[in-house]
Amino acid sequence: MRKAGKILADTLSLIEEKAKIGVSTKYLDKLAYEYITAKGAVPSFLNYGGFPATICASIDEQVVHGIPSDNTKLEEGMLLKIDCGAGIDGMHTDAARTIAIGNVSKEKQKLMEVCKQSFFEGVKILKAGVRLGDLGHTIQNYVEGFGFGVIRDLVGHGIGATVHEDPNVPNYGIKGRGARLWENITIAIEPMITLGTYEIEQLNDGWTIVTADGKPSAHYENTVVIMPDGVEILTL
Ligand code: MG
Ligand code: MG
Repeated sequence: MRKAGKILADTLSLIEEKAKIGVSTKYLDKLAYEYITAKGAVPSFLNYGGFPATICASIDEQVVHGIPSDNTKLEEGMLLKIDCGAGIDGMHTDAARTIAIGNVSKEKQKLMEVCKQSFFEGVKILKAGVRLGDLGHTIQNYVEGFGFGVIRDLVGHGIGATVHEDPNVPNYGIKGRGARLWENITIAIEPMITLGTYEIEQLNDGWTIVTADGKPSAHYENTVVIMPDGVEILTL
């Protein structure tokens, strides 16, 4: 998973560098596919449950699972969310970034920063024995402190031999509740937050998830492992 995580981190850095005004999300998908396969890894999302691409590329009110397209060109002010997975030797990793295209509004900028930081706030309290409710509560409390919404219907997850494994890792929760995490568990922690409501809908393409109120969203994700002496982030 360390090997896969390094390849995935480098893939996302490449996408962050290449995601410029005028570029299509299909082009970014092609770059990710070529990079991952050139490293001898597999794109974990491609054909996963029938998903047709290497990356999910979701813009503004699209939260996750956006399908890359030649017709979707990046424009000034967009918030682009790239979610991607890479596997090697049968083990997978999963990570996501939010990318500001050109200059974005102040509220989008803040949303993006708070989303990323909420992940790290969660990591700060993470160790063997911590309850999922405590992790979720920490993320939720941080995000809601800025007046943003935390999506409930999509959550983080265990990961390893497959991309999605138990347990569910919600970005909300009640202190002192939920299962305790254990040493060596590998999980994907992935806050998805919005400028408005936490309610979501699915588009007719059967994949793309959007906010119900049409307000922008941000996403940040890494695969982590709880080590005896702390948390190791595998996809940074
Ligand atoms: Mg992901
Ligand atoms: Mg994930």
